[in-house]
Amino acid sequence: MAEKVVIIGSGPAGWTAAIYAARANLQPLVYEGSATWEPNRVNGTTPLGQLNLTTEVENFPGWPYVDNDVLGQFAKSALPADRYDGLSHLYQGKRAHQGKRAAFGPELMEFMRHQSTLYGTRIITDDIVEVDFKKHPFTLKSREGQTLEALTVIVATGARANYLGLPSEDRYKNNGVSACAVCDGALPRFRSKPLVVIGGGDSAVEEANYLTKFASIVFMVHRRNELRASKIMQQRALSNPKITMKWNRALDEVLGTEEAGVTGARLKSTVDSTKEELPASGVFLAIGHTPNTDFLGGQVKLDAKGYIELTTPQHTYTSVEGVFAAGDVADSYYRQAVTAAGSGCMAALDAERWLAEKGHH
Ligand code: NDP
Repeated sequence: MAEKVVIIGSGPAGWTAAIYAARANLQPLVYEGSATWEPNRVNGTTPLGQLNLTTEVENFPGWPYVDNDVLGQFAKSALPADRYDGLSHLYQGKRAHQGKRAAFGPELMEFMRHQSTLYGTRIITDDIVEVDFKKHPFTLKSREGQTLEALTVIVATGARANYLGLPSEDRYKNNGVSACAVCDGALPRFRSKPLVVIGGGDSAVEEANYLTKFASIVFMVHRRNELRASKIMQQRALSNPKITMKWNRALDEVLGTEEAGVTGARLKSTVDSTKEELPASGVFLAIGHTPNTDFLGGQVKLDAKGYIELTTPQHTYTSVEGVFAAGDVADSYYRQAVTAAGSGCMAALDAERWLAEKGHH
């Protein structure tokens, strides 16, 4: 029998869609992805999404600072033992945070995941690698060889930040290297220190401007001598006294140590063979994102930037009736945990109403 709602993806959009669909008695099935599949590991598309790759999340409403030990007790009380075990290093041992803090991305996602199961969500730890949306019910194939039919599908596979692919960049991820200033910029390690932003688009300018609230100075490193960003954003960067432009330069290496994390950046010129080193406690990549849509095989219309195109204002409808999209996979603009969660809720409500209209209860 066809599934009523299959949700692909396990970030805030996916779990919020699952909570709503489950509470509407639709018994949603979530494909959360597999952590052990090499392409997921390499691309940063592992289960629980981009939030699982970050540290503190200070802008998710409802999560003021709380003592780390108290959060540990909360997690232990809320989660099944095996899921708590996966988080216990946050609360115990030498890497544990001391004192008060906001939610950590991974714990936030575990709580959402578990909340969805309380109302009957079923979860499969596998990836959907192929879809057939040309006939209804839709057919989905998983990497491990499962084939299933679905009356509705919610695509919530998110996007992945682009990185340059330097080994040193990988080494210091979450220890000074970040691709999200809004997520990480206010962390203590970046306060009153020099920071580096790589990129020349609107995101890079926005991130650099945002980081000037915390940093002593922000170096914007761009590979050309002209920004791609819109004129108004360019003006914002160029007139900000705390931003210093480093034109015609690319990141050669992130510098750092195991204990301190990032301590600097080595740049190379894109026009000659010169190199220079900058002191910095953080390196922020803002060289674009890539939405995770490959598995759709071109069957859902994408916009000019490759994101799923939502066809109707105030709805999560896609070009295929019965297929809905939520979160970053359909959002190149806001890209926030809370907006993703909100659109996941919308997708579940859209799917529920669509099923009711078609007589599936
Ligand atoms: P963009 O694709 O617009 O810009 C990416 C930037 O990264 C470019 O400057 C590009 O350089 C640089 N870059 C790409 N690859 C590399 C690389 N391998 N090495 C070095 N530099 C690299 O992405 P954004 O995320 O900035 O913006 C995405 C969309 O979102 C845009 O349409 C933007 O307008 C929109 N947006 C709007 C905002 C606003 O209006 N407030 C805020 C944020 C985003 P080059 O220029 O040389 O190609």
